[in-house]
Amino acid sequence: MAQQSGRYSYYEETRALEVTDRPRKFLEAFAAVLEHSSYGIALDAYARVGAKCSRCAASCQLYQATGDPRDIPCRRSELLLRVYRRYFTYGGMLRARLFADFALDDAAIDRMAEEFYRCTACRRCKLTCPFGVDHGLVTHLARYLLAEVGVVPKALVVSVREQLAGVGNTSGIPAAALRDTCEFLHDELQETYGADVPFPIDVEGAEHVFFPAVSDYLLEPDTLMGNAAVMHVTGGSWTIGTGNFDGINYGLFYSDRMMERICKRVGAEVRRLKGRKVLVGECGHATRSAWLLPNFLGADAPPAVAFLQYTYRALAAGKIPLKREKIAERLTYHDPCNLARAGRITEEPREILQAISAEYVEMTPNRSENYCCGGGGGTVSIDEIRAFRTRKMGKAKADQIRATGAKLVVAPCANCKKQLKEVCEDNGLEDVRVVGLHDLLLKCIDFGAAGGKGKE
Ligand code: SF4
Ligand code: SF4
Repeated sequence: MAQQSGRYSYYEETRALEVTDRPRKFLEAFAAVLEHSSYGIALDAYARVGAKCSRCAASCQLYQATGDPRDIPCRRSELLLRVYRRYFTYGGMLRARLFADFALDDAAIDRMAEEFYRCTACRRCKLTCPFGVDHGLVTHLARYLLAEVGVVPKALVVSVREQLAGVGNTSGIPAAALRDTCEFLHDELQETYGADVPFPIDVEGAEHVFFPAVSDYLLEPDTLMGNAAVMHVTGGSWTIGTGNFDGINYGLFYSDRMMERICKRVGAEVRRLKGRKVLVGECGHATRSAWLLPNFLGADAPPAVAFLQYTYRALAAGKIPLKREKIAERLTYHDPCNLARAGRITEEPREILQAISAEYVEMTPNRSENYCCGGGGGTVSIDEIRAFRTRKMGKAKADQIRATGAKLVVAPCANCKKQLKEVCEDNGLEDVRVVGLHDLLLKCIDFGAAGGKGKE
């Protein structure tokens, strides 16, 4: 935005609004959202909570790192809650008539624009609030309203635009390049493991339609080969669709409207291929947004399966033969917030890793009390704030990794992987490697026992 170009250069004006129009538009959007959603129920409860016990501050890794009052969760949420109280409650409206009360102005919008993108919406603070205030939800709503007046980080807007109006995925990969990549991965598996692992494309009637974070096709080939290998040895029915092969949904980070449009594209591809389930690759937010499909597609929504869960069940059922040799290097596991806190997927990856690792160690805290990688809520894609992301938001995670002494960190999420690689680079942990879970599992699968030729 013109008046912010120096201060928040990573924002983009998505709508040509006069600056003076923004408070009015913000309130109109707020009124519409309250009318057509259930956000009001939560806001009503949160707006009544008077406690300022600051327990949330003690559990927020960002505030722990910065000590900046702007990063106290309840203080940030108050930026939005005071707007709600003032304009959408009788008490607030009455007080405004009697006293010169707070009025939403442009400066208040600028403050929200800055502060609601310092929070990673990891929801760790919710665990400690005695009233259950969900600051991640408040952040989510504030960002949505900001988006309605055109304030969104450029990186998020550009990705969603490419997905909805461009090539059809956030990495801009054409279908022909997807086919080439799958062929390459097939050949690579053949050469390295002696296994003929197919990457089925546009197969109608498959049980699972596969949606990884599309960036895996560019950055994480080992994860994809591990995914394909698991489907191969378990005899799983699956396909990749050329109409939509991207599980990323950045709408989750800034706009319910965009999230809905992206979810509908996923549903349309599953329908086109006459598939039955959405199989989400290693990606926390993609999994969480796939779980939200019923909100937008109703009863027709295909069920969503996290790849980790598929693999865990197959391993437990004895369908994935493993070699005797395990991964010898000490390794640790990072719980992606969207899987561990939102999805309660905590034991499945541990069981898999313990089956293939000779030295598995835990970070502390872990599971649903884990620290965010520091790049949650879409902030990982904002390169302009890298130093803040890695040295402040990611500091707790760097300290945790260092304390384990592990040189291998497993993170089954595309966003976490990118962030953790940068966290390690920027915090003196250059000798630590960050990998996906299926990358390691791939090395341990006994293709020979699975019926393929396999290499020793
Ligand atoms: S959601 Fe996470 S980053 Fe945001 S205030 Fe809570 S603990 Fe801090
Ligand atoms: S923990 Fe809950 S009640 Fe306490 S200050 Fe934070 S939001 Fe308010």
